[in-house]
Amino acid sequence: STHLLAYCRPGFEPECGDEIGGFLLRQGIDCEIERGQGWVRVRYTSSKGDRLPVWRELVFARQLLLAEEPVALLSERDRLTPILAAAKELGGPFCDIWLETPDTNEAKQLSGFCRRFGEKLLEAAAAEGLLSKHPRAPRLHLFFTDMQSVTLALAAPEHTSPWPMGIPRLKMPFETPSRSTLKLAEAFLTLVPEDELKQRLRSGQHAVDLGAAPGGWTWQLVSRGLRVAAVDNGPLKGIVADHPHVRHERADGFRFKPKKPVDWVVCDMVEQPNRIAALMAQWLAEGHARQAIFNLKLPMKKRLDAVSLCFDLIDDRLRDADVPYKLNARQLYHDREEITVYLRRR
Ligand code: SAM
Repeated sequence: STHLLAYCRPGFEPECGDEIGGFLLRQGIDCEIERGQGWVRVRYTSSKGDRLPVWRELVFARQLLLAEEPVALLSERDRLTPILAAAKELGGPFCDIWLETPDTNEAKQLSGFCRRFGEKLLEAAAAEGLLSKHPRAPRLHLFFTDMQSVTLALAAPEHTSPWPMGIPRLKMPFETPSRSTLKLAEAFLTLVPEDELKQRLRSGQHAVDLGAAPGGWTWQLVSRGLRVAAVDNGPLKGIVADHPHVRHERADGFRFKPKKPVDWVVCDMVEQPNRIAALMAQWLAEGHARQAIFNLKLPMKKRLDAVSLCFDLIDDRLRDADVPYKLNARQLYHDREEITVYLRRR
């Protein structure tokens, strides 16, 4: 491969590129960043033994792949031949082939082509013995920004996002009071390791939801069998408003503390990110909750700096309190100008 290719939310290319660039720089690796719309290429000079970032440890990359330089598709009539040739050059066999585009409106016009061409390509690849069921076989990604060229990239399934375009498609539940319920659903799915989720999130647990109204996050928790103290001065709506497992607390989320420690605190208050980070660190340091999921809103210009400051602040507080912790953070597909953090005591 010649470079790293990352997918990100359009508008967040600076953060995505700088985050990867910063990671490489800290290892002493020089790099050059090219930013598109909804994607970033990072070309680096590296020798064997350097550690490259992986998808899971980045906040702003929806996907991170080892990519080749784009292949020009010169003939409109036959895109299959050059792509198959480039795929063979990469090696293979592959466990799967995904055709992807950036998450922009212009690129969405390519999705019909990708679907039709993808079927043709999979058939041809199978005929040539390029597909395999071997568990360690890499996934082949074809990234189209237009129909004149394509970037081929390889992915180790265990180190990359398991969703095409890095976007988990979640179905909107019928009864939820707000769309943001999907944010918390996506956070559980992508931030809590899959093999730990069943044990960490269980029916019968207790949770506090700070800034709960109208109740999308609370709904997500009660639908999984938790009992929730929903803290907000505003009204809850729909079925959470009089759900037997929801207690509405009209209080200030910065002051409210539960009488007994809870399993979860979640927080979606619109506030300065450092105030939210400090509050969540305090909850864990003082033992009010064992784990937290919260949003950090990033309306400011220097968003990456704001995120680093929040992580440093959390680290300081929890170190001072002698509380070992784990932190995973990501800009979710359902996040706009914000990121979501999963923080837990270890
Ligand atoms: N997560 C909610 C859902 O899924 O429906 C949406 C939360 S909304 C983005 C933010 C909420 O935080 C608002 O309802 C607002 O009243 C509440 N809020 C803001 N500051 C607060 C504070 N200091 N204490 C309690 N609630 C607060």
